[in-house]
Amino acid sequence: MKPDILTAEAVTRQLKEFDVYKIREDFPILKTKVRGKDLVYLDNAATSQKPQVVIDSLVNYYTTMNSNIHRGVHFLSERATLAYEDARLKIKEYINAISACEVVFTRGATEAINLVAASYGRQIIQEGDEIIISAMEHHANIVPWQMLCLEKNAKLKVIPINDEGELLFDEYINLLSEKTKFVSVVQVSNSLGTINPVRQIIEAAHQRNIPVLVDGSQAVPHQRVDVQKLDADFFVMSGHKVFGPTGIGVLYGKAELLNAMPPYQTGGDMIRYVTFEKTLFNDIPNKFEAGTPNIEGVIGFGAVIDYLNKLDFSLIEAHEHDLLEYATAKILDIDGVRVVGTAKNKAAVLSFVLANIHPHDIGTIMDSEGVAIRTGHHCTQPVMQRFCIPATARASFALYNTREEVDKFIGAIHKVIKVMG
Ligand code: PMP
Repeated sequence: MKPDILTAEAVTRQLKEFDVYKIREDFPILKTKVRGKDLVYLDNAATSQKPQVVIDSLVNYYTTMNSNIHRGVHFLSERATLAYEDARLKIKEYINAISACEVVFTRGATEAINLVAASYGRQIIQEGDEIIISAMEHHANIVPWQMLCLEKNAKLKVIPINDEGELLFDEYINLLSEKTKFVSVVQVSNSLGTINPVRQIIEAAHQRNIPVLVDGSQAVPHQRVDVQKLDADFFVMSGHKVFGPTGIGVLYGKAELLNAMPPYQTGGDMIRYVTFEKTLFNDIPNKFEAGTPNIEGVIGFGAVIDYLNKLDFSLIEAHEHDLLEYATAKILDIDGVRVVGTAKNKAAVLSFVLANIHPHDIGTIMDSEGVAIRTGHHCTQPVMQRFCIPATARASFALYNTREEVDKFIGAIHKVIKVMG
């Protein structure tokens, strides 16, 4: 589904309303000097920076409530359990799940996808079945399905993309068949920035009773997500991409699916009753949270949800769109630059190659100017193969980036050309 197209006046009004300098005050690390120069952090698709409220929540956890959860009857344990379950509730509200039991905490998006492939996938996929992914998936949304297909003698089908990096929707429809048992697609590509029409993808699959997983890792930092509106069967995300802590992620799954799935890992907390003969498993979501979880990470995730709730995402989208347009126009003025990923519907990710200069050299020279970008295949090697390149340099923007930082980024590219040219 295409987003609402804003008029030029509406965009200008939104940009005026958005105070990026006030937002920047919330993120202490942005004041860092890199060899005497201002840090320009444009590696947000790899991981985002954290607002002070998230950092404070971690300190507060260890200062006032550190304790193991669920099993304790003492004061600290009850306090930590309350905070942990309160965070689950906040996330449930934020993504508009029907129930908090549909929110399972994982180590990140990677573990969430592995959980679905290993539990749900193993249960439903049989020999000869097909699983559909797209050509722009992160390795985290390729390898678990590839392994499952190998194990079950099933087939992985790939929706192709065009030269702009857009998914070919008609090809997707052609791939859907009686053999298709699962679809797993990325909402926003981390290497191309493409925003996929996930609602339409889901609709088409559901017409054939095929469940869909949406990898929302790169969507949540840029837009609000409503899992009920999407009608996603599974939705995954990582805390660290959305200004929260590392090592914590979420698997959202429709309750009826999660209820019918076998556990992923086994051990403490995921059980109701154990004897040497047999084990009764706990209800969802605990059934999927074996062992002591990342308590501080969950609480920090809750803190970031409070922070996000205070923001207006229509302003953030307009701001980031402005940064992307501004940066794209400026970079295209530079001789020898090729932008990789030019979809019409695109998040603030700018991947590029520059003449014959290796992206790693670009990244290293830019770092000497204080500009942090990422270089490499971005865990999307098939995307690199599609565009016949080994790697790209990638600038990825977040709500706290500014036009002045784009200017510094462009200045750093000129420095690269001077040094390498
Ligand atoms: N999917 C996408 C689109 C991503 O960008 C990433 C992280 N780069 C992942 C999945 C995996 O996330 P994590 O490493 O946090 O598990």
